[in-house]
Amino acid sequence: MVDPTFLCRQHLLGEHKELHMLVGTIRKGTSIKGYLDKDLLEVHNIEVRHRVLVEEMTRRGYNHMSPLVFSAEDVLVVHGRYGFTGQVSQVKSLTDLRNRCERCGSV
Ligand SMILES: [Zn+2]
Ligand SMILES: [Zn+2]
Repeated sequence: MVDPTFLCRQHLLGEHKELHMLVGTIRKGTSIKGYLDKDLLEVHNIEVRHRVLVEEMTRRGYNHMSPLVFSAEDVLVVHGRYGFTGQVSQVKSLTDLRNRCERCGSV
């Protein structure tokens, strides 16, 4: 959930791919409880987050050929399953990323 302009190429593309994988996981009915418990995912923001990432990818001239649809009904299904749809701390995400990757933040 970090401002995508801070992300290096690897992490921008990585997070984008992860969103597609997560939607696949949710559709298959595989548990995402681990992500929710660790504050790694906001299910209600998946579609918005995907759009923001794609905008940044397009701005940098990367190709995007994979539409992602995750509607309000999909969010409701997750809410029904787990009782909440997760929350992410932006400050924590940014700090984690800065510690993990020296290229992020210097784009
Ligand atoms: Zn996509
Ligand atoms: Zn990075």
